[in-house]
Amino acid sequence: MRTWNEISYEIQRVISNTPIAPGAYILKFKKNSTFIAGQALALGISEDIEPRYYSIASGENDDEISILYTEKPDGKFTRILSLLKPGDNLMVSKPFGKFTQLSPFPVFIAAGTGIAPFMSMLLSGKAKGAVVIHGASYPDYFYYSEILLNTLGENYIRCCSRCQPGSFYVGRVTDYIKQWSGLNINRPYYLCGSTEMVVETRDILISRGVPISSINSEIYF
Ligand SMILES: Cc1cc2nc3c(=O)[nH]c(=O)nc-3n(C[C@H](O)[C@H](O)[C@H](O)COP(=O)(O)OP(=O)(O)OC[C@H]3O[C@@H](n4cnc5c(N)ncnc54)[C@H](O)[C@@H]3O)c2cc1C
Repeated sequence: MRTWNEISYEIQRVISNTPIAPGAYILKFKKNSTFIAGQALALGISEDIEPRYYSIASGENDDEISILYTEKPDGKFTRILSLLKPGDNLMVSKPFGKFTQLSPFPVFIAAGTGIAPFMSMLLSGKAKGAVVIHGASYPDYFYYSEILLNTLGENYIRCCSRCQPGSFYVGRVTDYIKQWSGLNINRPYYLCGSTEMVVETRDILISRGVPISSINSEIYF
C-alpha cells in the first residue's frame, strides 16, 4: 500500500472501461478487498490529480469491482478516466463509507449515477422488497434498467425529465415523490445523487410525513 493525499492506495489494472450511454461508462477492475454494499472508494490516475470518490456498483460476492461514472465535460479527472484501456494502471483505495445500514423494505431514490450503491445492495441480495425510483434526463441514462426491470417489475419507477409521455413518468424524481400515492411513511428511505436532489427530496419526504430518522443519504459532491 502507498499513500497519496493521506489516502492509502494500491495499483490495479483496468479490466474494462465500457461506454454504456453517451458520456457514461462502467469501469471494472479486480476486487482485492472485501466491502459492504453501499461503500465507495477513491480512484486516481496519477499523483498530480486529486483522488475522486466513486460508489461501488457491483455485488459483494463478485470477483470484480464495477464503477458507474459519467464524464464531466470540464472535469479534470473523468475526461482522463474515460480514456483508460484494459491493462492501464489505476490507483485504488480501500473501500470506505457508512451508507450501508439497510432496513427491510427500503425505498431507494436515485438520480443519474446515484443508482450505483443501490445496484450493489440489490446485486448482493440485501434489499428484499425494495422499491427503486430513478431519475434521468433521457432513457439512455436509466443504467442497469434491464436488471432492475427483471428484478423489481412495477417496483422500479423511472422518472424521465426530458421524455415525451409514454413508458416513463415524465418529470423529475422530486415531482414524482410529491404526488406518489404509494408513499408509505413507515418505510426506510435511501437517497443518492447531487446535493440539490438529495436536499430537495429529503424536504419533500419530510413534508409528506416521513420521519427524518427514516431518511438516509449519500451525496455526490
Ligand atoms: C461518496 C461519493 C461517491 C461518488 N460516487 C460517484 C459515482 O459512483 N459515479 C460518479 O459518476 N460520480 C460519483 N461521485 C462524484 C465524483 O467523485 C466526482 O466528483 C465526479 O466524477 C467529477 O468528475 P471530475 O473530477 O472529472 O470533475 P471536476 O469538475 O474536475 O471535479 C468535480 C469535483 O471534484 C472535486 N475536486 C475537483 N478538483 C479537486 C481538487 N483539486 N481537490 C479535491 N477535490 C477536487 C470537487 O468536489 C469538484 O466539485 C461521488 C462523489 C462522492 C463524494
